[in-house]
Amino acid sequence: MALRLFNTMSSRIEDFRPLRDREVRMYACGPTVYDYGHIGNFRTFVAVDLLRRFFRQSGYTVRHVMNITDVDDKIIRNAARDGVSVQQYTAKYEKAFLEDAAMIGIEEPTLVRATEHIPEMADFVAKLVEKGFAYRTDDGSYYFRIAKFPQYGKLSKRDFSGMLDGARVDVDEYDKDSARDFALWKAPKPGEASWESAIGPGRPGWHLECSVMSMRELGETFDLHAGGEDLVFPHHENEIAQSESFTGQPFVHFWFHARFLLVEGEKMSKSLGNFFTLRDLVLKGHKPSSIRYLLASVPYRNQLNFTFDGLKQAAVSVERLRNFRLRLSSGNFPPGANSEMQTLAAQAVERMTAALDDDLNTAQAQAAIFEMVRQANAAFDTGGVKQDDVPPLLAVLTRFDEVFAVLEDDDGPKMKRVCDWAATEGRDKDISDELREAIQSGQLSDADIEKKIAAMKAARASRDFKTSDALRAELAEAGILVEITKDGIRWRRK
Ligand code: AMP
Ligand code: ZN
Repeated sequence: MALRLFNTMSSRIEDFRPLRDREVRMYACGPTVYDYGHIGNFRTFVAVDLLRRFFRQSGYTVRHVMNITDVDDKIIRNAARDGVSVQQYTAKYEKAFLEDAAMIGIEEPTLVRATEHIPEMADFVAKLVEKGFAYRTDDGSYYFRIAKFPQYGKLSKRDFSGMLDGARVDVDEYDKDSARDFALWKAPKPGEASWESAIGPGRPGWHLECSVMSMRELGETFDLHAGGEDLVFPHHENEIAQSESFTGQPFVHFWFHARFLLVEGEKMSKSLGNFFTLRDLVLKGHKPSSIRYLLASVPYRNQLNFTFDGLKQAAVSVERLRNFRLRLSSGNFPPGANSEMQTLAAQAVERMTAALDDDLNTAQAQAAIFEMVRQANAAFDTGGVKQDDVPPLLAVLTRFDEVFAVLEDDDGPKMKRVCDWAATEGRDKDISDELREAIQSGQLSDADIEKKIAAMKAARASRDFKTSDALRAELAEAGILVEITKDGIRWRRK
């Protein structure tokens, strides 16, 4: 089987085939950097990251481009309010976004910034005017004339045949049910940031940024374009109209949209008090790996209901997987192989791959690995795991983690960075006791612990129980439980 993906354009699950052999060119609409990213944003970004990683696991090379929207109405307003330049204002949040994305295991795409491509955007508008798709208004703004693009609405399946030719809207986000000629380029307003260009002073509209930058990086037609479901209309519809009018070619092959998440059963909103940035959750003491695992646990087209119970459960799941891996890598096993274990590993790989091939069914992929862990754990206890079974079982975990990226035990240092950041931002009161504790117990990396365990083993071999006990106490202090059994020494985090 090969990858099948839902395509918003056709409203069907289709076989995924890239336009070029073995290379996937994908673009994801990135953040507007005017604030810290919230878990809804990261739900979508993690979904895109899982997809990218699975493409790679499936043997494709991936060119993944993401824009940083560093100019829009809100940014300009906030920068003016704070009396700083647009660049100064956005630099802080762009940095925070990149740190957060890395913290949650997102591999960095090729980044493109809107403000670095303004001359190309102005040229793009000029060409649309030349071709009759755009017009200039008296104030020096430019609009796309959607009546000239009869397929307008083909992605969002809206019928705009009755719309008013020439009705306009000049804000980046507008009423979802009204189709209007949308702004490509906005004339400067007094006191607002603007750029000089070949089509006069002003600034690009948000939709234009994505059309120009995606085609610049990936070509006139590329494989996949991603974002949250709110972007289908108007943003992606407008990108299609601009790009296809400009090139006369199809813009994108596959449209990939992640469903909006709920928090504790409700739409996330500041007024309901259920609005969380990634950093808010870490400040409460939750590990980045648990958050990533939870965001990945519901397939991207299903509604994920983010709950704190679910987050705790995710932490337990990650711990189980990490402990299983340690058990494999640090245990003593009898020589030989057990064909049942070999079959178990092969089946797990097959099921995981089949699940992800099936429109990225991450829930099924997680279920497949847990089934293997359950059966292998049972076999451990009865001596059913032999030396030669260890590499194939470990290989399944590695394969799983190529996509899910939760097994590396690096939560401690990441959480510490968030804690340090909160202190420098004067948010000490938001640092929970749980976070302080987690940092303390997370100070020891797996490698540090393994070293101490090895020293314990050496001490015990030479019957130096005093040293062994001291090491054990030290580990206990750091939140590590050590169990000495006849098969050797095992450990786990408390
Ligand atoms: P923004 O910074 O608002 O432009 O959003 C960045 C990305 O996050 C876009 O792909 C949005 O569609 C997505 N997004 C925003 N809110 C949510 C949410 N509650 N659930 C899932 N994705 C979201
Ligand atoms: Zn976009």
